[in-house]
Amino acid sequence: MADKNDRICIIGGGPAGLSCAMYLEKKGYSDYVIYEKLNKVGGKCWSPKLKVKHNGVEEERSFETGAIMGAITYHAVSEMEEFGGYYHKGPDFKPGEPNMRREFRNLDGTVDHPFEPKVNFSIGKMLKLVKLKKQMKKLNELMQTKYVGYDCYGHLGVAKGEYYGISKGVDGHCGATNESSFPNYIKGTNPNLKDLALPFSEFCKLNGVEEVQRIWIAPFTSFGYGFFDEIPAALVMKYLDVTTALEFVNMKLWTWQDGTQEIYECVNRKLQHPAVLETEVVKVERSDGKVNVTVRKGGEETTETFDKLIVTTPLDYFKDYADATAEEKELFGKIIHERYCDYIATFEPGKSPNISGYMVDNMVPERLGHAMVYYNRWQHLDRDCPATVYALANHTGTPDVDYDTVMKTMDEDMKKVGFPIKEKLFAQEVYYCPHVSPKDYADGWYDKLEALQGTLNTYYAGEIISFGDMEDTCAASKDIIGRFF
Ligand SMILES: Cc1cc2nc3c(=O)[nH]c(=O)nc-3n(C[C@H](O)[C@H](O)[C@H](O)COP(=O)(O)OP(=O)(O)OC[C@H]3O[C@@H](n4cnc5c(N)ncnc54)[C@H](O)[C@@H]3O)c2cc1C
Repeated sequence: MADKNDRICIIGGGPAGLSCAMYLEKKGYSDYVIYEKLNKVGGKCWSPKLKVKHNGVEEERSFETGAIMGAITYHAVSEMEEFGGYYHKGPDFKPGEPNMRREFRNLDGTVDHPFEPKVNFSIGKMLKLVKLKKQMKKLNELMQTKYVGYDCYGHLGVAKGEYYGISKGVDGHCGATNESSFPNYIKGTNPNLKDLALPFSEFCKLNGVEEVQRIWIAPFTSFGYGFFDEIPAALVMKYLDVTTALEFVNMKLWTWQDGTQEIYECVNRKLQHPAVLETEVVKVERSDGKVNVTVRKGGEETTETFDKLIVTTPLDYFKDYADATAEEKELFGKIIHERYCDYIATFEPGKSPNISGYMVDNMVPERLGHAMVYYNRWQHLDRDCPATVYALANHTGTPDVDYDTVMKTMDEDMKKVGFPIKEKLFAQEVYYCPHVSPKDYADGWYDKLEALQGTLNTYYAGEIISFGDMEDTCAASKDIIGRFF
């Protein structure tokens, strides 16, 4: 257990690192340092400002290269908002605010309305929608009964049929949103939870709710979190618990006017010790009850000594620059991450998408590297407003698609559906959604990680603990600081 006078090193100034610092301060710790290798905080919540035209007049707007949205279930993010003094917009957006409307576009460029029974009405479509509605209801009921305990942040005990952690809602049920209930620790035994190690597609089959994948696929696969035949159901259901999924369907989402990065910039400004920027941790040595951390800044390396270390950065990389033990090497070597690619582009005059859209036919492994979603954040701006386009480059069992091919394929896709790209303003591939295979999940990977917490004065936080979104990441920080500090 840590001591209030401990000197603590936090690696990474993303949502995980900054939330760890905030929760440490709330518990009375003040001797900490956050090292961030880039010249900004927020990690994958990066929202650069671009010049755009509004009624012919040039102005600056934030465009998100990473995280965009939240939902009513974002309790930890709410605490970050409160601490930093910067709040979300939505779900009832006003003119001029970020826009969350979206369309479904077929690959021939026509617009589809798969969930609107009256548009292109047919008996077949109607029956399919009735089936979908029934299965949504059934899944909702199953999650509250057969899978009680599924809605904890993190994966503690799930592989053994147990649950322990902070619940996303009150009384152990998701759906309640009383913030004063956060954190609400719940604990219990439920052997059915072991099913959550199955790939999501198998989990749906087992429970006779295959149709629901049609709803879950857009906010999951197109957002880069992988394909349903390779991702443990636990990850899908912990991110898109039924409440959050319905918020997506009903478009009752949150966004931030100046981008999600601003949440973390505001938190960083309020911290007693804002992150030390442009400082990369390149070596970690743990001996004699101390942690020696070597950082590189401006080409120079220096070493500082700490009592405790919190790693919020990719653990599969940590094992290569730290004095990792055999156990750490074995465990962290099993981490898989998604290769998610996106770019912000302008389009040929008059040819930019005027709302966001899903290309569902590209959300299958056979179409790896193809554009799955485009995002037009500022719908009310002039029509040559830039938009962001996204694709996945990897899938278990399919050869990876290289970055250049993904970029070219996305260009071709956008042209085919009627949005020819003029210029790319920004493009990237990100290390995304770290997780383990269904087999490693069933073998208790997350419990093995939990058993390592605190060993060699080292604690692990960040996306891997629960899921690769802002809320799960910040809630994991709350849990870890709450239990170990
Ligand atoms: C395209 C995209 C869309 C997304 N959409 C959403 C969304 O709509 N809603 C949502 O909730 N989430 C979304 N996310 C996910 C969300 O951004 C991440 O889950 C979250 O940022 C994870 O926080 P983190 O701190 O664990 O990791 P990161 O954000 O990756 O931060 C890690 C930080 O550590 C730094 N670092 C790494 N190595 C070192 C080192 N050796 N030394 C020092 N610093 C180091 C990095 O520079 C980085 O700043 C999206 C992400 C992307 C990329």
